[in-house]
Amino acid sequence: MTGRVVSGTRNVFTVKTEEPAVRECRIKGKVLKSASRYYNPLAPGDRVEFDAASGLILSAEPRRNAFTRFNTKGNAPQIIAANVDAILCLTSPASPPFRPRFIDRLLLQADSANIPAMIACNKRDLFPTVDAKTRLEIEARLADFARLDYEVFLISAKTGEGLDALKSRLKGSVVVLVGQSGSGKTSLINALLPGVRRRTGPVNRKYDRGNHTTVMSELLEDEAEGIAVIDTPGIRSLAPDGIAPDEVQQLMRDFAPFAGKCAFGLSCAHQNEAGCKIREAVSSGAIHGDRFESFVRITKELAAGEVRDKG
Ligand code: GDP
Repeated sequence: MTGRVVSGTRNVFTVKTEEPAVRECRIKGKVLKSASRYYNPLAPGDRVEFDAASGLILSAEPRRNAFTRFNTKGNAPQIIAANVDAILCLTSPASPPFRPRFIDRLLLQADSANIPAMIACNKRDLFPTVDAKTRLEIEARLADFARLDYEVFLISAKTGEGLDALKSRLKGSVVVLVGQSGSGKTSLINALLPGVRRRTGPVNRKYDRGNHTTVMSELLEDEAEGIAVIDTPGIRSLAPDGIAPDEVQQLMRDFAPFAGKCAFGLSCAHQNEAGCKIREAVSSGAIHGDRFESFVRITKELAAGEVRDKG
């Protein structure tokens, strides 16, 4: 039988078949050669073949794409979701505060995996409560993401504002939802997928695995709405996966036109070197100063070979 993984951890997975039925399946040993590099062999969105009688997973279909990160605790790349149409980064202007550095990392990973990324700023009803300076900064960053051709949605899962536009954009798609805890992922899922009710609030669904606790990603589908969401409640930080330090300037959209064009080429450190095209672009406004800061942090982290959990 074949089916799609909806959730699971290292060797036990929930698989949804065409019937439709949900089966608990297992992997024994290293049957999936493609998985050896990863912390986890399968992720929500993966399509698998399993033995109907025993529930043993026999093989996995090659992935169309994968959204991954470097799992610093497990010291290996981790597949967060497979075979997706888009990544939606959920943020908020307050409670919790806007975190543009997390968005920069997410966009980098999405572009590296060739997955369209979009940003939804939830809790737009809270904008009037934010101080004027912070509000201007948030608006400037959101405008900058839009300038770089990322789709930006201003929404409120509470008041319903902006949800129709987002919903029609997501129709027919499988989307990974990533965002800080408290940004409103559960509330948004309830609004987008009325057929799948989730409990909102500070307490997450936790999966106890020995001495440390992990929150599972899960594929939720509302067939009537034609939208599937892969919820990722456990993603607090994103260390890039599979990206070399030199590649960052080619992958970050605002840096790409200047990549390798500095007088010292790819060996330019973009500090005070003469003929540094990237610093010039920051001065002219072609690259936002905050994006430059993210770029410096990410490349330093990758060059040092140390992958730290920095948001
Ligand atoms: P999650 O941790 O990302 O799943 O976030 P939740 O959906 O549990 O929401 C966290 C808190 O934010 C809850 O108290 C929600 O009621 C609240 N919340 C969610 N969306 C909005 C919104 O658009 N505006 C406001 N003011 N609060 C919201």
